[in-house]
Amino acid sequence: MKKKTLLIVTLFYIMAFIFGLAIGKYFATNKAKAEGTSDVEIINIEDKKQEKENKEFEKNQNNNVENTIKDTQKQETKPTEEITTDYEKKNKEKIKEVMAKKTRKVAYLTFDDGPSKDVTLSVLEILKQNNIKGTFFVIGEMVKTNPDVLKKINEEGHAIGNHTLTHNYKSVYSSPSVMLKEIEDTDKLIKGIVGEGYNNRFFRFPGGSFKRPMDIKKAIVDNGYIYIDWNCLTGDAEGKMMSVERQYERFLSTAKNKNSLVILMHDGIGKKTTPEVLIKVINYLKENGYEFDILR
Ligand SMILES: [Zn+2]
Repeated sequence: MKKKTLLIVTLFYIMAFIFGLAIGKYFATNKAKAEGTSDVEIINIEDKKQEKENKEFEKNQNNNVENTIKDTQKQETKPTEEITTDYEKKNKEKIKEVMAKKTRKVAYLTFDDGPSKDVTLSVLEILKQNNIKGTFFVIGEMVKTNPDVLKKINEEGHAIGNHTLTHNYKSVYSSPSVMLKEIEDTDKLIKGIVGEGYNNRFFRFPGGSFKRPMDIKKAIVDNGYIYIDWNCLTGDAEGKMMSVERQYERFLSTAKNKNSLVILMHDGIGKKTTPEVLIKVINYLKENGYEFDILR
């Protein structure tokens, strides 16, 4: 009888323990859910999209930038994805033209999704302290909000590239004409601030060019633009909680064994870790003998 009571009591405690665990997990999940949707929900959704895009992009080992850079530097070229269309060839040739003279290690620091007050100004300060020029792929709507920041980018000698008017995937990837209109509107906004002389043809697709509709890519090249992706990144768009250390590790792993680096970072609203990571990235690049250049 005593044994039976002991068994029942023990069972009761085990059940209570399991029940406690389940309750705890339930509350933790709900808390995470609440945190995920409370502030800047749109940015989170964009982050997730970007993260997915970035991962997909990375998986595609034979991406355009990598191949073009490899060809340019006459390094060993693996059998690569066939470049089949005229516009792809044309785009590749244009990137080659810009990068062909580079025989040494070169890094292109690129910043997407700005100009913003909270991040771009810090980025500019760091670049100034290090006497380095970068390339800013700006969003037209952000240019409207922060014209003074764009002006500063220009005055301090950096390159400005086009990153569409809205950065809204549904809009920009809906048709070639919508995409071109967004690009032209953004060019007009930039010209209105930095002057009619602005003529940078470098363009970056929101989320990268990988798997974008052929007709849209073609329209961009036919209209004299050069679309350029990246072959190195810090992952600063991959979830807002990614630590500086993790971003730096991501940079190191994607920069490994590459002489030419087109580095993707973000200076859009809320990317508050970018400046801190940038300092580490610059130090690494300097210590490892990279020169800096801009896409223009
Ligand atoms: Zn972007």
